[in-house]
Amino acid sequence: MAYSYDDQNIFAKILRGEIPNDTVLETEHSLAFRDIRPQAPTHVLVIPRGAYVCYDDFAQNASDAEILDYTRTIGKVCEMEGVAANGFRLISNAGAEGVQEVPHLHVHILAGRPLGRMLE
Ligand code: AMP
Repeated sequence: MAYSYDDQNIFAKILRGEIPNDTVLETEHSLAFRDIRPQAPTHVLVIPRGAYVCYDDFAQNASDAEILDYTRTIGKVCEMEGVAANGFRLISNAGAEGVQEVPHLHVHILAGRPLGRMLE
């Protein structure tokens, strides 16, 4: 499917430096920052710098370099935050039924408490 990107979304504004963020890690193609309404002791959002609406848009249209950088950045943040020992969860909401609030691809990294079962 073809995606239409809204460059006024809040993460686009963060990427342009128009609003502040609590940065965890910056790379050539990605940015990781703390969620403003944390749902767990560790709650970091990782976004690509490119204008991608959701994971599907990114997987179809991003370059190999962007995909590699993004994947490695998520892993690096997990390492930096020390989440592997006790476990963590990655979530990427997409679209209306996925209840995506901000229409710029982001992966949530959640850790630091028991997160409960999501799927039965
Ligand atoms: P989602 O429902 O997956 O689109 O989640 C969007 C996330 O972005 C929510 O967890 C919000 O708390 C978070 N968020 C919204 N605005 C900001 C902001 N300015 N800085 C950091 N996180 C934000």
